[in-house]
Amino acid sequence: MTMWPFRTKYPEHKPEEVNGKEYDFVVVGGGTAGCVLASRLSEDPKVSVLLIERGPLNDSWMSRIPLLSTDIFNPSTGAVSWDCEPLKYCDDRVTQLYCGEVMGGTSRINGMVYTRGNPAEYEAWAALGYPNWSYEKVLPYFIKSEKHVHQYWQKWRGISGPWINKSIVYAEWVFNAFRAFLDAATANGFPLVLDGSSPKAPNEGVVVVDSTINKRSERVSTLQAFLPHDVVSKRSNLTICTKAVVSRLTFVMEDGRPRPDEVLLRHSDSKSEVVYSVKVKKEVIVCSGTFGSPPLLMRSGIGPRKHLEEHKIVVVRDLEGVGFNLKDHHGFPLVWETPLNESLSEAMVHPFKKALPEMVKYILHGTGIFSMPSQHIALFARSRAISDDGSEYKFAGDNTNAEPSDNLPDLELIPAAISTIDKPGEQGRSDQRLGTVSILATYLVPESSGSIRLSSTNLFDRPKVDFGFLSNPADYIVLRKAIRLSLKLAEIMKASGFPLLNNITYPEASQQKDAENGNDDELDRLIRQYIRSVFHWSCTCKMGSEDDLGVVDEELKVHGVTGLRICDASIFPKGLSAHLQAPVVMVAERCADFIKSGM
Ligand SMILES: Cc1cc2nc3c(=O)[nH]c(=O)nc-3n(C[C@H](O)[C@H](O)[C@H](O)COP(=O)(O)OP(=O)(O)OC[C@H]3O[C@@H](n4cnc5c(N)ncnc54)[C@H](O)[C@@H]3O)c2cc1C
Repeated sequence: MTMWPFRTKYPEHKPEEVNGKEYDFVVVGGGTAGCVLASRLSEDPKVSVLLIERGPLNDSWMSRIPLLSTDIFNPSTGAVSWDCEPLKYCDDRVTQLYCGEVMGGTSRINGMVYTRGNPAEYEAWAALGYPNWSYEKVLPYFIKSEKHVHQYWQKWRGISGPWINKSIVYAEWVFNAFRAFLDAATANGFPLVLDGSSPKAPNEGVVVVDSTINKRSERVSTLQAFLPHDVVSKRSNLTICTKAVVSRLTFVMEDGRPRPDEVLLRHSDSKSEVVYSVKVKKEVIVCSGTFGSPPLLMRSGIGPRKHLEEHKIVVVRDLEGVGFNLKDHHGFPLVWETPLNESLSEAMVHPFKKALPEMVKYILHGTGIFSMPSQHIALFARSRAISDDGSEYKFAGDNTNAEPSDNLPDLELIPAAISTIDKPGEQGRSDQRLGTVSILATYLVPESSGSIRLSSTNLFDRPKVDFGFLSNPADYIVLRKAIRLSLKLAEIMKASGFPLLNNITYPEASQQKDAENGNDDELDRLIRQYIRSVFHWSCTCKMGSEDDLGVVDEELKVHGVTGLRICDASIFPKGLSAHLQAPVVMVAERCADFIKSGM
């Protein structure tokens, strides 16, 4: 391997360098899924693959430091954000959404948590009429992509794939909040789960989650795993075009069906208006993400007829489901003040006293706060098991064998050594000498859903995202239970000596008022004020029949169109009770095999 400074530049291209050329496969979006797919397709030297990514390469030592790379409020990470539509059921509040617009996509900026989801979730996909997505069928693709370090080999874990993950063990945890939370959960009867990817793992329990971090304590995104410099520089059949945004696809009619024959692209810099084009020999695979794939389809004339006509877009294929059915995990951040030394806030308040020595520790030993993901553990639970006042939890017994519908966890409580309120800088502290810790009480399968629509035909106008939080009032019931279970665990943490001081988001005075009035008025008001996305959005081009507002079929082909697939989080047929990056990588591995085997 050639080492820096003699290493050649990463082989990336500009739109003018690909203009007019023809490729077998054009992958639109070099994000989490796109990097996997382009890598797998180009393993066959006989096919030519073009990968087009809107963002830059932006790969540096700094960009792989776990703590710094998760700072989504800092655009130098590759994160972009924009405002959602006013939240109709939350007093018209506006919140932000964040995406990784950079090679590797959101896997470059995410929390690095690696979870696959319960086998029963994929059985549910199969039961919808998609047997190719049963647990038995998807497991080999999780294994294929993965290189799991740290643990003894188990047959459900991969050890020779390109994508590294490891668990951060108890002794390495930097903040006491995680230990106090884990102790409180186990004291409350939740089993400790050391391998959440085991098909036999209990469905309710406190899981020490794996993180996509390597032994050198660097983030491993799908860029580093699947398209590293060494791989790309050896593949003359793979072309990567960065800082290029696909404006739309054009179509020819073949046997009465549209087929994309050209991909139109521009520089991501909105000042340049030159349009370039590439020709497509076999297929276009759109990997532009939950918020990127629907707008691209719509600009290309595929989507709900009425919406396209409002924007004077010529309809190529009327597909009602495009952009519909946005699913997400909805969370309520319970935030407490705590002494500064118990919180990550200390590094921000005292950059020289705290952050600098920690950086030295990271450089010398790969340890300390800079080496850590923001989440080490997760408590998965079932809302049905929680009594209304949150005081009782009824365990399901042999819960790996129960009926899936009763069995699946619908809650995740996420402890964090920092505020999880979603506004930049909003810590809500009464005293800047104090830090914050939180439990993000998350509803994984809310009834509410949202949508994404074009705001205009201008490529650079961000689409309108309506999260639809609380559009179904049934969600209040589950969120209240999640909050009450969190408060119960917080009481145990306090009793064991962990210093949880003032509660910022459900203050003691509000708790008392609700108790005195015998209702949840204060809590519901605060839910509307603080409810947030947990960034696990999916399903906006879901796998499903057209009657059921589906957009793609079992092999991820867009209904009624030849030579066009979608491959990213948008195709999930239903929301998952898991963090999404590992399932997205599995989808991309699966899609590559569909294409390679001629399906
Ligand atoms: C802040 C945050 C934290 C998260 N934390 C975790 C976590 O800890 N664990 C976990 O499992 N999941 C996490 N997730 C979710 C997970 O990371 C995403 O679901 C997953 O990475 C999405 O992959 P994707 O391929 O669907 O989209 P992306 O990775 O977002 O890729 C889409 C790519 O397409 C590009 N693109 C879009 N439009 C165009 C266009 N027109 N032309 C060219 N390129 C285009 C984008 O620039 C982007 O690179 C997190 C998400 C966020 C936002």
